[in-house]
Amino acid sequence: MQEFEDKFTSEQACIDYLFRMRWPEGFRCPRCGYERFWAMNRGLYRCISCDLQTSVTAGTIFQATRKPLKLWFQAIWYVTNQKPGVSALGLQRVLGLGSYHTSWTWLHKLRCAMVRPGRDRLSGTIEVDETYIGGSKPGKRGRGASGKVLVLVAAQEDGNRIGRIRLRRVSDASGKSLAEAIQEMVMPGSIIRTDDWSGYRGLVPSGYIHDIIRKDTSIGDNLLPKANRVVSLLKRWLLGTHQGAIQSSHLDYYLDEFTFRFNRRTSRSRGKLFYRLIQQAVSIEPVTASKIIGGPKYNI
Ligand SMILES: [Zn+2]
Repeated sequence: MQEFEDKFTSEQACIDYLFRMRWPEGFRCPRCGYERFWAMNRGLYRCISCDLQTSVTAGTIFQATRKPLKLWFQAIWYVTNQKPGVSALGLQRVLGLGSYHTSWTWLHKLRCAMVRPGRDRLSGTIEVDETYIGGSKPGKRGRGASGKVLVLVAAQEDGNRIGRIRLRRVSDASGKSLAEAIQEMVMPGSIIRTDDWSGYRGLVPSGYIHDIIRKDTSIGDNLLPKANRVVSLLKRWLLGTHQGAIQSSHLDYYLDEFTFRFNRRTSRSRGKLFYRLIQQAVSIEPVTASKIIGGPKYNI
């Protein structure tokens, strides 16, 4: 925390930090591309060429916030430094936020930053399996179960280790649902390893190489060790950080947070996670920005 306080002594220090993240090569007018500007107060800039006024937060998750940027930075610092992850209640306490709702909304906005630029798909050899999250009784495959959410897990092989992962909620384990989810998570041409569940039969027509691992081969019970390992870590994390008290409507948030953390788990410096999350929070992607800003995700 001291490291944080030394770095972000004031609101202006936060604005300057965002400015460098956003325009690492120097300011560029988002409309005309001109490089010179008048700096106005509170992170506002006016293009000298076309008079467009823009701010360092426009088009980012901080857009139109009424809270100080420093508080946001503290939130990001906290989120990236708590290894097991944080709950909305925990964040509210640490920041001294008046409302749980604000804390909850912030976590959701940070989630947008965690996943937005991470849309690239996995490639190589990928283990894929489904698991049920929530509920007390085990669910029956392919049928769905009340109070449970079905999650598809994709774990990339990296030698004997797990590379990157993707997690995605699916409505059921039918061939159609599984194929759609896999197409979002994995590049065509990749090798996909699954068990012999019939729902995976459409993979080859969808452009994948399908490696079916059967029980009668000599590798024992753990047919898909990497996917299974991710499932058990995910479940432990959900239980540990959130005491299992997760509403199914909020699960997507936790899946994305887990993915963000998992894929960066070897990052030695927590400061790097902080940097990465802010960088993603200000990264502008014209195609998706309009969807997020003013879209349903943003108005939680
Ligand atoms: Zn301009």
